Amino acid sequence: MKFRSLLYFLLLCGTFAASPARGQSPVSREQAPFRGLPVRNDLATLSIEQRVEDLLKTMTLEEKVGQLVQYSIGTPTGPGTGRGGYDEMVASGQVGSLFNLENGQAVNHYQHIAVEKSRLHIPLLVGLDVIHGYRTIFPVPLAMASTWDPPIVERAARLAAEEATAEGVRWTFSPMVDIARDARWGRMIEGAGEDPFLGSEIARAYVRGYQSKRLGAPDSLASCAKHYVGYGAAEGGRDYNTAEISEHTLREIYLPPFYAALDEDGASVMSAFHPLNGVPASANPFILKQVLRDEWQFQGIVVSDWTSVGELEAHGIANDGATAARKSFTAGVDMDMESNLYHNYLADQVKNGKVSEAQLDEGVRHVLRVKLALGLFDEPYTNETRKHVGPLDKESLDVARVAAERSLVLLKNGNGVQSLLPLKKGQTVALIGPLADDAVNMLGSWAGRGQPEDVVTLKTSLTRSLGASKVKYAQGGGIRSASDKEIAEAVAAAKRASVAILALGEDAREMTAEAGSRAHLDLPGRQEELLEKVVATGTPVVLVLFSGRPLTLPWAFEHVPAVLAAWFPGVQAGPALYRILYGEASPSGRLVVSWPRSVGQLPLYYNALSTGRPAGEVDLSHPPKNGEEKYVSRYIDERNSPQFPFGYGLSYTTFAYAAPEVSTRKISAQTLNDNLRKRNPDERQDVIVSLNVTNTGNVSADETVQLYIGLRGTSVAEPVKALKAFQRVGLAPGETKKVVFELAPEAFAIWGQDNRWAVEPSEATIWVGPNSAVQGGVRLEIGD
Ligand code: BGC
Repeated sequence: MKFRSLLYFLLLCGTFAASPARGQSPVSREQAPFRGLPVRNDLATLSIEQRVEDLLKTMTLEEKVGQLVQYSIGTPTGPGTGRGGYDEMVASGQVGSLFNLENGQAVNHYQHIAVEKSRLHIPLLVGLDVIHGYRTIFPVPLAMASTWDPPIVERAARLAAEEATAEGVRWTFSPMVDIARDARWGRMIEGAGEDPFLGSEIARAYVRGYQSKRLGAPDSLASCAKHYVGYGAAEGGRDYNTAEISEHTLREIYLPPFYAALDEDGASVMSAFHPLNGVPASANPFILKQVLRDEWQFQGIVVSDWTSVGELEAHGIANDGATAARKSFTAGVDMDMESNLYHNYLADQVKNGKVSEAQLDEGVRHVLRVKLALGLFDEPYTNETRKHVGPLDKESLDVARVAAERSLVLLKNGNGVQSLLPLKKGQTVALIGPLADDAVNMLGSWAGRGQPEDVVTLKTSLTRSLGASKVKYAQGGGIRSASDKEIAEAVAAAKRASVAILALGEDAREMTAEAGSRAHLDLPGRQEELLEKVVATGTPVVLVLFSGRPLTLPWAFEHVPAVLAAWFPGVQAGPALYRILYGEASPSGRLVVSWPRSVGQLPLYYNALSTGRPAGEVDLSHPPKNGEEKYVSRYIDERNSPQFPFGYGLSYTTFAYAAPEVSTRKISAQTLNDNLRKRNPDERQDVIVSLNVTNTGNVSADETVQLYIGLRGTSVAEPVKALKAFQRVGLAPGETKKVVFELAPEAFAIWGQDNRWAVEPSEATIWVGPNSAVQGGVRLEIGD
């Protein structure tokens, strides 16, 4: 019996007073996502709960508030920075968590003060944004997701946790599980793209990797699913902006990855900056209390985003700091990151009765529970002799390379008749572009403690592997600017070579991630001009595109023979790119976002509703010629379809898909609903879909087989297609494998008109194919 079940059993018997669910309304099973179950959150074991209660009894009001206060040390700029006097604050129990500390010695410095000098000896919870690696920097999260390979995501997260914990970090503000449908939003780079199913699988992989099997192990890193919730729906793709999301869309699209992270025992959640349906996410009781605590029964910490408590004033729902603190706290934000407002006002709010002591205790419980689960009370200090941080070891580098290799998405390769890639090793190559030898940008947007000297750039790899005499390098200017001379030199280099590789794209730190929203998604500076001039030389061009999002490059997709989306691949950028460009491995990354043709299409996502006037078979490649072409849901000057669909990516081989077989063609909604509430897969009756997939080409390669479902006849309109399963399979030339999907009942469940998860009588179509544009499909009737 799990501890948690035992806990609830004792609760029911009325013998155990300290309960995570005490005082909360009974769970409405139908309201929790998917199968209607609370998350499997095992933070609250009996022994932990007892210690939490014992501690609470000894704490003063100020000490309780102290546990809810978090500061960043060592960040020189940004709102809320510039504070000092941490030694005294920690010694007097006024701080519960610090982050951005330099290293293990700094962690131990503060931890010694907390444990030895503070009255109750409560250790600090020390955090850092370990986003895609600590010292060994893996590809950016959007790229990690593009591997469609949860085991490698888990492995990378584990390595990151080992490195970070060796330096005393026990809490990371990752994974970011925000669904992103708008490439203008810079933070698309930090997440797993547009799909809730893939996003959930990736979220689970991160949490398993960071937290390992036991949160109390010294190399376990508590995860933080962020930014709760709907931050990616910021209007216009402008960071921090308002989001309006219906409950239906919130439940089906934006909440599932958070549920997944917490169901995997994720220890914490970060509340977002933006207003969600008019109520700032950091003061929003619907998401923070009703969904998170009442329905999901989450027991860990909710931390605010950086100064998001203080920002309630700018949002206009608090006219002073005291009100902002009260509104955030009573809505369900346990810990105040950087705003300084819980510190200044929360104790007074309790004293004057505006916040109840019971509420305060509940917030403190969440924090102490995680500290205890991490084993910090027993082992607060970092073993400064435990070394895992740089020089990067072989295993980490191998994982970094393989992850990078699998994240590269081949968007175009020749004209369908003749392909350009893979390149031949004997040829002279012109290597051009600002990102060909840019170590800093390869580290991406949140580089932890990554160092540029750890990076192997594309230039280094090509020169090492092909020999310096074969590589003609010309930078061709910078990301934002270039001189005529630099462009001319690049053009001259291209003329002298058999093939040109152009490494172009964005600046990872300035143009992507937080506060990196863009209204124009083209190549910055003079890069497009550089590209066009090099193509005009007649030398065949491979465009290697480094970016944190899809870029709208219609000219390039029409005129450049080969285009590879490289994202920002991390420390092993060069070796991974070399292996793909020269055919030592076949490209296997697949898009996790729909690639727009133009900014005007945004937001763009494959799992959209049909509309009452779908364009259907209408040819959208030209303006409407008549009423039939006009009065459909379309643009008069652009197609509806993306440049490349979600799930898309080319390979150096070809695959043949046999028609899928489904274990049944008719099933009752009643049967599926009965199964929906069962945790144990052995007790469920799954729908089995199977098919043969064959490698029909000449090279070994991985294919990601994707299964989509569409439902018609439901109480609310559902996406035309939604990803419900996928498998990455390796196939030798000529090899056939049978791919089997066991579809659990939640694959058919929707958040219906009566506001609950259920399977409704409907007509299902099941598609299996290489990307979301798959056609055909098999019918399954879901009867009463
Ligand atoms: C970001 C978070 C990050 C936090 C702490 C904020 O500005 O939005 O994603 O975890 O800072 O560094």
